[in-house]
Amino acid sequence: MNPSPDPSTSWITPPTPGRERLSGTGTAIVTADRVLTGRRDPRGGEAGLEALTDPLHGVGILLLDATIAAVGPVPELEAAAPAGAPPTRVDLPGSTLMPGLIETHAHLATSGTDVEYPDYGPQEIARLSLNAARSARELLSVGVTSVQSLGARHYVDVALRDAIAQGELRGPRVRASGPQITTTGGHSWHAGSEVDGPDSIRRSVREHHKRGVDTIKVMATGGFTTDASVPWNAQFTTEEIALIATEAHRLGHLCAAHAHGTQGIERAVAAGVDYLAHASFVSARGRTELDAALADRIAQAGIYVDCTITADIPAMVARDDSFAPPVRALWERGVRIVAGHDAGIPQVANRAYVGGLEALEAMGLPRHEVILAATSRAAAAIGLAGVTGVLAPGYDADLIAVAGDPRTDLAALRDLRLVATRGREFIPDAVPGLQRRRWPAPGQDPDHALDPGPAGILAAHRAGVERAATHPDV
Ligand SMILES: [Zn+2]
Repeated sequence: MNPSPDPSTSWITPPTPGRERLSGTGTAIVTADRVLTGRRDPRGGEAGLEALTDPLHGVGILLLDATIAAVGPVPELEAAAPAGAPPTRVDLPGSTLMPGLIETHAHLATSGTDVEYPDYGPQEIARLSLNAARSARELLSVGVTSVQSLGARHYVDVALRDAIAQGELRGPRVRASGPQITTTGGHSWHAGSEVDGPDSIRRSVREHHKRGVDTIKVMATGGFTTDASVPWNAQFTTEEIALIATEAHRLGHLCAAHAHGTQGIERAVAAGVDYLAHASFVSARGRTELDAALADRIAQAGIYVDCTITADIPAMVARDDSFAPPVRALWERGVRIVAGHDAGIPQVANRAYVGGLEALEAMGLPRHEVILAATSRAAAAIGLAGVTGVLAPGYDADLIAVAGDPRTDLAALRDLRLVATRGREFIPDAVPGLQRRRWPAPGQDPDHALDPGPAGILAAHRAGVERAATHPDV
């Protein structure tokens, strides 16, 4: 990693002048009413999460530069602080300190656009890069301190990752995939990485490696947002996906598969992928139909799954359940669910991140599981185990403080009192939608016309099959 640049040349995004309380250097103590470490409660407590409190002295964390040095009661932190200059002190009464949130499935380069693959003509790479820089800042403004990019044209996510890591602009820590690998004309072919056959597959994975990705993303099935794509059908054979996963692993990368249809999920699991996006189990009958035995295989393999439960999904499912990612059923069978929302595709704003967590709860995931899915488990899913997602000594100081206690209401996550990456505070931009609900409440039909989303495409497919069945047998 390159050293941090000279501050006088950090020109991409200037720091917010003078308001950061934590600089990421030196010693600091941050205190709050409670600390959620991001770990499961080892005593199996009712709330499900490990929580530290000390009504008499308060609790907090001790930061040493960019790293967490200690977590616990304030007197212990004071005793553990190195001798010399007194630590910087940030007291946040009424707050909960917890790991920064993690989005495991984002599309940073096209975030905020009305179409998934906008045509910027000769400005394309420059505009996508600017989009990505803005997305990063927006995500960090809602408390997201790490993000996995699962599809970005021209590898702009790789450049973004490095610029953020070098301190040239503020944003979450990025894990980058570059363009999604798909079949010629397959789902997301516009991303620019079409392959056919073993040699072309190897070449593409190696090219991604050469360009510096962390994760290889493969489109195992069609999708709902590419014209003439068929989400319930697999795009690759099991052998082809296995070749992608094996080549990715050989080069030290994770392999994530987009898979809506059961056929593609089955092949991706058999092929040895590490991560599944969507897992909506749509079948050729045009409905979500959970295959319980396959769910068990996902659980046994330890594959991480994001069901892309966006803020709108509960209302969409309440209206028409033909597309209903079975997140609760998967979790009950032991699948490792993580918080990935497809952030950045049209209609899925980065600023809706917490709305997506509330939607996960509305779809049946217990609240403490949602918090694990958005912190420690998400970190493990994107290759950052032992690095971030937990408040414990030795971890990077990626953290947030929120007013109140998210164990009693996830909406507490909307009220940020502190955001810091690697120990350095970030003053959030005023992001519309952070402080108030702009999406329908769970289970409540919205008063505005809600896009039918994938259910509309599935309904059209079912209608076509029914019409065909009325044709004379000739
Ligand atoms: Zn996606």
